[in-house]
Amino acid sequence: MADEKEEKKERYKPFRAPKGVHDILPSDHEYHTYIKKVVRHRARQAGFRRITTPTFEYTDLFKRSIGDSSDIVSKEMYTFEDKKGRSLTLKPEGTAGVVRSYIQNGMNQLAQPVLLYYFEPHYRYDKPQKGRYRQFFQFGFEIIGESDPALDAQCIQIANKIHDDLGIKELFDLQINTIGTSEARKKYMQVVEDFYVGKERSLCENCKGRLHKNPLRLLDCKEEDCQILAKLAPTMRDYLDKESLEFHEELLEYLNEIGIEYTENEKLVRGLDYYSKTVFEFWDKTEGAQNAIGGGGRYDGLVELLGGQSTPAVGYAAGVERVIANMKKEKIKVPSKDELHVFVAQLGKEAKKKCLPLIEDLREAGIKSMGALGKGSINVQLRLADKFNVPYTVLIGLTEVREGTAIIRDMEKGIQETVNYEDVVDRVAELIGEDALDKYTPGELLYS
Ligand code: AMP
Repeated sequence: MADEKEEKKERYKPFRAPKGVHDILPSDHEYHTYIKKVVRHRARQAGFRRITTPTFEYTDLFKRSIGDSSDIVSKEMYTFEDKKGRSLTLKPEGTAGVVRSYIQNGMNQLAQPVLLYYFEPHYRYDKPQKGRYRQFFQFGFEIIGESDPALDAQCIQIANKIHDDLGIKELFDLQINTIGTSEARKKYMQVVEDFYVGKERSLCENCKGRLHKNPLRLLDCKEEDCQILAKLAPTMRDYLDKESLEFHEELLEYLNEIGIEYTENEKLVRGLDYYSKTVFEFWDKTEGAQNAIGGGGRYDGLVELLGGQSTPAVGYAAGVERVIANMKKEKIKVPSKDELHVFVAQLGKEAKKKCLPLIEDLREAGIKSMGALGKGSINVQLRLADKFNVPYTVLIGLTEVREGTAIIRDMEKGIQETVNYEDVVDRVAELIGEDALDKYTPGELLYS
């Protein structure tokens, strides 16, 4: 018997979401929606259009673009085979998919640059911890098809604007660097590798492993001993090409012009192979790179690397969960559009018949309404109305059906009035106030 009970308990054990992923519950969705609206608004103002690429792509797309030696490709990808044995990967970042789509859909035929933005979940097999999840949302911007430092400045400006709109700009410090063209960087990588050879004993395990694969990553390792060595390493600027250095100077001039503060950080390299010239990240002012809110850079070689024509580009991506965490840390609330105005309570089948069209009319008038359409007594329904925290309840019982009326109850004051059934909508609208009505419209449909 006990065994049977145990077996049943085991069989019906409640599920939990897999490690490192979480539900976005309604209270956090209010933040998500708000952030999405801010992003969309700033994107539209600047001529960006939204793109959504598939959740999974062929694995080789990420290997070729992000690079085999990057942390993402070597450790963090969710890779699986489909039934035909094709290797697929859940996208760990947004740029590779957007560039693949740019090429596949012939977007080079459109007016350049092509301005795209996205707001989507991404997947990385990271060690779950505060601000680091296995599924996380990012919003990002890509400007593809033109090379000019003014575009890098614009990309940074729009990121900055969004952080400002969300009330968190002051928490972050823009770190910026240039890593030159890939040829110049290759030369510098060799110099860095040579510098570290013979000093392996002072490196952390992670850096020992990547010394010969991706020596630049040793420069921005967060381990204390590695940081001491990194300070002594030859600086990248001495090895960069003249064009990249000039490009960078021009970018800084534009940033000065538009009043964006930055910190030049010659050790900033970003972890992905596809960057060239500009790289930047918004670091937490107190926690540094660990809790960066977003990052980006120029990726002039990527379109060609993925099979398109040589096409310059620049982009930025930020993490939505971290944005929300920072908003909450600053005690910033977003306007709640979810709260109901009215609870409609009824007693009996005849009253219910009156309630159903009334609920529809209330909603049409912009009054957010919910009906208690179960069988509970009026008192039970009123208690329910209290729990839903509505300012008003409309009650229809047998008497009201007979007399063609309804009761409107002010839940806070505990007072009520009886009005004609036909006048309920107008009276409730008046009580709630024109400004509070939900008059949202997605726009008129057009028929051609
Ligand atoms: P990255 O391109 O890796 O610098 O990512 C850009 C931004 O995405 C970061 O600054 C974070 O805000 C966010 N992000 C990256 N990885 C994660 C993760 N595992 N969990 C939550 N947010 C992340």
